[in-house]
Amino acid sequence: MQTLEIEIRNPNGLHLRPLAQFVRVCARSRSEVTIRNLTTGAGPANAKQMLRVQPLGVRMGHLVRITAAGEDEAEAIEAIRAAIEAGLGEEVPAPPPAGAGATPSPVPVPAAVPAAPAAGPAPAAAPPPAGAGRLAGLGAVAGIAIAPAWRYREPGAAGGVPVAGDPGAAIRAAAAAAESQLEALATRIRAAGRPDDAGIFEAQAVLAADPTIVDGALARVAAGSDPAAAVVDAADEAARMVAGLGDELLAARAADVRDVGARIARALRGETLALPDAPVVAVADDLPPSVTAEIPAALLRGIALAGGSRTAHAVILARGLGIPCVVGCAGLLEAVDGAAAGGATVEVAVDGESGEVLVDPDVAARAAFAARAAALAARRARAAAARGRPAATADGVRVVLVANIGHPDDAPRALEAGAEGVGLFRTEFLFMRRQTPPTEDEQVAAYRRALEAFGPARPVVIRLADIGGDKGIPYLGLPAEANPFLGVRAIRLAYGDRELLGTQLRAIWRAGGLAGVRPHVMAPMVATLDDVDLLDELRDEARSAVLAAGRPCAEGIVTGIMVEVPAAALLARELARRVAFFSIGTNDLTQYVMAADRGNATLGRLQDALHPAVLRAVAGVVAGADEAGIPVAVCGELAGDPAGALVLVGLGVDELSADAGSLDDVRGALAAATLDELRALARRALDARDAGEVRAAAGALLARVGAPLAGDRRGG
Ligand code: PEP
Ligand code: MG
Repeated sequence: MQTLEIEIRNPNGLHLRPLAQFVRVCARSRSEVTIRNLTTGAGPANAKQMLRVQPLGVRMGHLVRITAAGEDEAEAIEAIRAAIEAGLGEEVPAPPPAGAGATPSPVPVPAAVPAAPAAGPAPAAAPPPAGAGRLAGLGAVAGIAIAPAWRYREPGAAGGVPVAGDPGAAIRAAAAAAESQLEALATRIRAAGRPDDAGIFEAQAVLAADPTIVDGALARVAAGSDPAAAVVDAADEAARMVAGLGDELLAARAADVRDVGARIARALRGETLALPDAPVVAVADDLPPSVTAEIPAALLRGIALAGGSRTAHAVILARGLGIPCVVGCAGLLEAVDGAAAGGATVEVAVDGESGEVLVDPDVAARAAFAARAAALAARRARAAAARGRPAATADGVRVVLVANIGHPDDAPRALEAGAEGVGLFRTEFLFMRRQTPPTEDEQVAAYRRALEAFGPARPVVIRLADIGGDKGIPYLGLPAEANPFLGVRAIRLAYGDRELLGTQLRAIWRAGGLAGVRPHVMAPMVATLDDVDLLDELRDEARSAVLAAGRPCAEGIVTGIMVEVPAAALLARELARRVAFFSIGTNDLTQYVMAADRGNATLGRLQDALHPAVLRAVAGVVAGADEAGIPVAVCGELAGDPAGALVLVGLGVDELSADAGSLDDVRGALAAATLDELRALARRALDARDAGEVRAAAGALLARVGAPLAGDRRGG
């Protein structure tokens, strides 16, 4: 028996596409191959069966143990190792150095990586005005579409059709037909230059060949079921198993499993799907991804789903193609089917931003939607044109808009989005997914690249590694803690061992010297004045070491701190006299003020940084900073949320640092209101009952720019 323990580095773990590759490699072996998720303890499962491996919920950073037993066990393990290290068809961070063997323990998912807005928590769609045929769903892909409905129905709804001959053989043949159809679809899409989309169908082809659906169907047929219904039921059971895993990404894959079942059932019944031949809005409970892909892109004007999820593959495909899409639209099917009774053509209008869907819109409603489409196009054009200008309120008060990055490679995207610098370079990401810390020289290269990309006029704030909490680094061998978020995290590590942050600071001094700029540096998790003493000592020791070694050294370092611990917020006045700037980490500040773990999905109502309790902490920090005359930035997710940005500027924050993808919306929102209006908003916010009331107040200003009211990027 041969065993391999290896960390999975794919950004979304073993989700469908890499999973398909993994299963393929395992299936080539003549040995028995099993996989166990050591991080969660799930498994073992037969590694040759996709639907057995999928429930193990293998995510990025999880450690898995793969075992092969049989005649070619050694070759199998080597092939599997090579495939995983090569990324299973995806780009993954470089594997650990050769010979390093298994990762000793798992690397947690870096929860701090900001999620793309469209994949984040579902926004509360703006409630549409009441009226016949007006429905409210969740905006999933922004854009406006009006076209006749093309109704897709799950084949399970159709009655049984007799299958000639041996039903078992017929089911196997239908599964093989579905597999080859899906492979052909993948080939066609790959040839059209969409390799990512093609991967979805390659994965589905593997699902069609997976015995789980076929075996489940055969068992049902043996118990007297109609063969096609048996296939649909077996796929449904497998889909429910996937959906019930409590994992949003995997749950979204349930539609893929049902899609495969539906395809096998169609093949079994000898049916073909009648695709539209004119522009349509597809209306369904949950549109299967392969159906989405089969409708010619030019004819698929919009998608409205009663079910669905914003991370479903159909939605991902739609997003890639820019097709407006609304999901979770209750009452949609009843409204469309009711209007279509008697064979009438039903028009459907979709607003993929607000989530509004109109069934059979009248002339006035159509005109209103057309006006929205024009406004959206104008807003996008304005946002793109405004990138070259500094962000400001409507009365011209400047707000510094900078970007959060995790790697120097993120610099071009930030610059393209009009970032005036970097407000947060999360350097701990340089330490992740490796076996040893980056050397001082490697760090010099990374910091220098970031500093040079932005140049002397656009400051780059390098945050010392925020290690600990949910960002453990296995190879550092730090002791396990009962409450890592309240433990030896970030600057606290340097009380025990100065080397980690000392090396970083030497690298920053050297990088600044080589790039000819004064780097900005800040320490995370500062809670006390002792922490600032320590930071100053570390900075000065590092400078002396660089000079003693005769290396190029920056002329100075601008030193600041993150304010993300309530103690620091309460000590803002004293801390402000000691540092050059504050940067408020609203993600952690919210977690600690509200005593609500930022990663615990069940605490959503306590995780909105617009809660007045958090805002009062922010106001105190601003007051302390003002007294000392130092600037205050916010680099938590709240800064990239248009509603959050308005409130923060109203509270007196000088600088907002957010993911590059949020900068257009924030810039647009700021330009919609004067500073006085923002101050009035902030006063209301401080006295509000809860975050919802603050969002509603901000929404009135956001409505002026037609900006998405969403802003519901909870947390920080
Ligand atoms: C924060 O806490 O708001 C912050 C920006 O830091 P991180 O999300 O990396 O903890
Ligand atoms: Mg933080």
